[in-house]
Amino acid sequence: MTRKKRAQITLDALRRMIPAPETELAYEDPFQLLVSVILSAQCTDVRVNMVTPALFETYPDAASMAQAEPEHVFPFVRSVTYPNNKSKHLVGASRMIVRDFGGEVPDDVPDLVKLPGVGRKTAQVVASVVFDRDALPVDTHVFRVANRIGLTVNAGTPLAVERQLKTVIQKNEWSEAHHLLILHGRYTCLARKPNCDSCAASPGCLYFGRLQRLPEPRRGLDPKLGKFYCATCGRYTGTLKERKDRYGLLQAACRSCSSMNVFETRSGKTTKRVPDFRVN
Ligand code: SF4
Repeated sequence: MTRKKRAQITLDALRRMIPAPETELAYEDPFQLLVSVILSAQCTDVRVNMVTPALFETYPDAASMAQAEPEHVFPFVRSVTYPNNKSKHLVGASRMIVRDFGGEVPDDVPDLVKLPGVGRKTAQVVASVVFDRDALPVDTHVFRVANRIGLTVNAGTPLAVERQLKTVIQKNEWSEAHHLLILHGRYTCLARKPNCDSCAASPGCLYFGRLQRLPEPRRGLDPKLGKFYCATCGRYTGTLKERKDRYGLLQAACRSCSSMNVFETRSGKTTKRVPDFRVN
């Protein structure tokens, strides 16, 4: 299956699962969205939505926040991650908006990334959500889900994922695809334990296909003879070594014959793993 075809199948499946693909951040205007997205870096949208109502009541726009000092903003955002830095960024960004952009949040990515605390991903989210620009920001969820499903190949950085996704998804679908992939990663294709059994995207998913090809659990192994059993050389052992597989992933291997055809004796399960593209 080509990556384009896989992308089509995936987006169609995700559209069925997620009828309203949009940001979960609460905002009423571009400034509020910008603030919320800055606050959401390595933090949950739920947490951000808890702090922003009081923050926006006191500082409803860039002009009012530009007059504050970071220590005035800090108490409002103390419960989000990195509150010190984020307070400085919010005040710094507000001052630049007032000084350089006439008090209005700039509407394109090159200007947005000039603001303190605004990286490429934040800029693209703001540009795409409130200014309707074609953008496909890649966060930790999009990175993981795109790689797992196989919409990208050997894409090791967010920028590589973004570039590859843009070659297989039509421009007018970028923004929707961004939200679909984020929400899918947040609620179904979870980092630690993806809910593949309830996932409509499984027919086109490479990770799911690889899971299906793992060896079945082996019955009748005796844990008293060793923690692991190598089905290639037929030996029980207490320790294994590591070996890279063809995906570059470290796998457990038999110390005697180097085979990766190894099983845990207690559960009977294979020790083989498939790449899950979690970002630590
Ligand atoms: S099948 Fe599993 S790994 Fe693949 S997209 Fe669905 S939840 Fe994620």
